[in-house]
Amino acid sequence: VKREGRGGYRFFSEDLNIASAKRVRLEAKMRHAILHQEFQLYYQAKQDLQTGQLVGVEALIRWPTPEGMILPQEFIPLAEDTGLINPIGRWILFQALKDSVKMSQALGYPLTIAVNLSMRQFQRPGLVELVAEALQVTGIDPQLVELEITESMVVDKVDEAIATMQALRDLGVELAIDDFGTGYSSMAYLKNFPVNTLKIDQSFVRDLHGEACNTSIITAVIGLGRGLGMQVVAEGVENQQQRDLLQQVGCHLGQGYFIGYPLPLKILLEQWQHAEST
Ligand code: C2E
Ligand code: CA
Ligand code: CA
Ligand code: CA
Repeated sequence: VKREGRGGYRFFSEDLNIASAKRVRLEAKMRHAILHQEFQLYYQAKQDLQTGQLVGVEALIRWPTPEGMILPQEFIPLAEDTGLINPIGRWILFQALKDSVKMSQALGYPLTIAVNLSMRQFQRPGLVELVAEALQVTGIDPQLVELEITESMVVDKVDEAIATMQALRDLGVELAIDDFGTGYSSMAYLKNFPVNTLKIDQSFVRDLHGEACNTSIITAVIGLGRGLGMQVVAEGVENQQQRDLLQQVGCHLGQGYFIGYPLPLKILLEQWQHAEST
């Protein structure tokens, strides 16, 4: 038993060594990618479920490499741990706002642009100044900018979080709670958060299928959001049935593969310019 135990321990620590070697390599690769501007932003459409109109987009970071696309779940956590999220996040913000000005011009009407913030970015002193700078440099109407944060970022130090949210709102930008319903306990604080939008997590939308059309949670969240004067967005809309149900229960906006995949700016524009002229 002892020997097995030791063996098990050795394997475990070898696994850890492999894992940390991988992290070290990925970190080096990430520094290189920052210097050489290898990241890209894809954009996913946000559609008004009642009118069908494209109302905005969400920026989603992509990292193309010769070995294939590295997805955000694979590098954002490490970027957070190493602090590299700061230069990457700055680039995302400026690039997204610049691109959205272009998109609005191309479409002939103003689109909103949503940018995801990570925990470390949200908690960093200087965020408000950074956003102010990006607004100034790009000249975008602040009301068109929506910053997405998650419940987990605001449950720890609630007062500080609210102060940051308020300072961002004072710049004129909007705030959304992402993945709503997956965090816990922030329900009680929700009414104190100066947020404009609730994004219902994909997991609740996934339950809207087949015979068991369980709309009760979705309906409750939409009611909650509306009651607090917020806009409600459903994420992860993957089929017609989900879209129709969400529309019926009064959800304002939808996002998901059925509405549009995350795409490079140019391709997204072509798709929607075509869709809206037919
Ligand atoms: P998120 O902000 O909740 O973004 C939604 C994720 O769901 C995206 O994954 C999107 O591609 C995917 N998605 C969209 N529609 C559907 C659908 O119909 N079905 C399914 N199954 N998935 C759908 P992605 O791009 O891989 O991003 C994952 C997460 O990584 C994001 O979750 C966000 O937390 C983070 N992330 C992505 N881009 C950024 C960024 O620019 N900055 C920061 N800080 N985080 C980012
Ligand atoms: Ca998001
Ligand atoms: Ca989400
Ligand atoms: Ca998320």
